[in-house]
Amino acid sequence: MELLIKNCRLKQEGKLQDILINEGKIKKIADKIDIETEKIIDAEGNFVAPAFIEPHIHLDKIFISDVVRPNKTGTLEEAIEIIWEKKKNYTIEDIVERAGKAIKLAAKNGTTRMRTHVDIDTIVGLTSLKGVVEARKKYSDIMDIEIISFPQEGIIQDPGTEELMWEAMENGADIVGGMPANEKNPEDSMKHIEIAFEIAKEYDADIDMHIDETDDPFYRTLEMLADKTIEYGWKGRVTAGHTCALAAYDDHYAEYVMDKVKEAGLHIIINPVTNLMLQGRLDDQPIRRGITRVKELLAKGVNISYGQDCVKDTFYPFGQCDLMEVGLIAAHAAHMSLPEEIEEVFNMVTYNAAKILGLNNYGIKEGNLADLVIFNAESTADAIRRQPDRKYVIKEGKIIAESSSNSKLYRG
Ligand SMILES: [Zn+2]
Repeated sequence: MELLIKNCRLKQEGKLQDILINEGKIKKIADKIDIETEKIIDAEGNFVAPAFIEPHIHLDKIFISDVVRPNKTGTLEEAIEIIWEKKKNYTIEDIVERAGKAIKLAAKNGTTRMRTHVDIDTIVGLTSLKGVVEARKKYSDIMDIEIISFPQEGIIQDPGTEELMWEAMENGADIVGGMPANEKNPEDSMKHIEIAFEIAKEYDADIDMHIDETDDPFYRTLEMLADKTIEYGWKGRVTAGHTCALAAYDDHYAEYVMDKVKEAGLHIIINPVTNLMLQGRLDDQPIRRGITRVKELLAKGVNISYGQDCVKDTFYPFGQCDLMEVGLIAAHAAHMSLPEEIEEVFNMVTYNAAKILGLNNYGIKEGNLADLVIFNAESTADAIRRQPDRKYVIKEGKIIAESSSNSKLYRG
């Protein structure tokens, strides 16, 4: 199939461009392309961007808030405990249905790739994984999904989990996850990280862990992860999500750790909606934000992305799988208000996330995969500010979603 998109605004300044797509790829970008094709879309001068990449979401837990009790303390600890009961009764059908709802929403909002964590532990076994693998198959025409095996209950303190983590790699998991802060002591946290690296080495897999999701500066697993990344030669293949404790360290230690993060080539993913909600819960005024040191990491040249993380679960009661909504909140949380900073927020779920996934055919360039979003907006900043209609979402040259709101103001 051939598709021609006329009058695209690719940059804030400069001429509008036409994009010709053929067999799923961007064939030509030029000021004017006048040819007969199967389908022509007029972007009417609107902003056209590469489709989003959601790098951190939990498709197994999504949309469970209606069937479990509310999180009364609002803390991470209680959010995890509430799910124990629900997890015992997870079924593959239930997960496919809830994950499917999230995948469809995300696709409508311009996301065509995801990385999802799935719980791997002795409560749920491999049921979460099997459900998400099924959902991935069912929706493969609209979403590419990478699956991370996520030992949320710990590995050392939950005997049997290590075996399940190995089995997960034979049952559809692509990436090795972790949550090393959820062990009884720093020695066990280190063992937790080492197990993940041993699995990654065997399967030649990337690593993506939940790191120090706490305001407590006692937790120092980010430094451990950076050290092990260098030791195993896994530079550029390891991602640390959350890293909230980094914001609670004193400046001297934080500086030391951030230099190691840079040296190890770690990617950082912030999850501002969840962490603004969960962290700082035990603080008296002034209440901390719980967001890691975004600007300091960026200044060191560390690659940063952000994720939705949670939608309607025990961790976070809101969300709609719209990365522009999360971007707006990320910009507030990290004080990113200058034009170039707003641009960076947009990059976080496009080009920066593509680096995490190691994609080399991503972006609006001739020869790359044609995964695009046409906004009803003029610019990056406008897309974040208003979260406007995604007029068209295109995945590998195919239109997978189209939307338009027709609101009118009647005024004399
Ligand atoms: Zn998470």
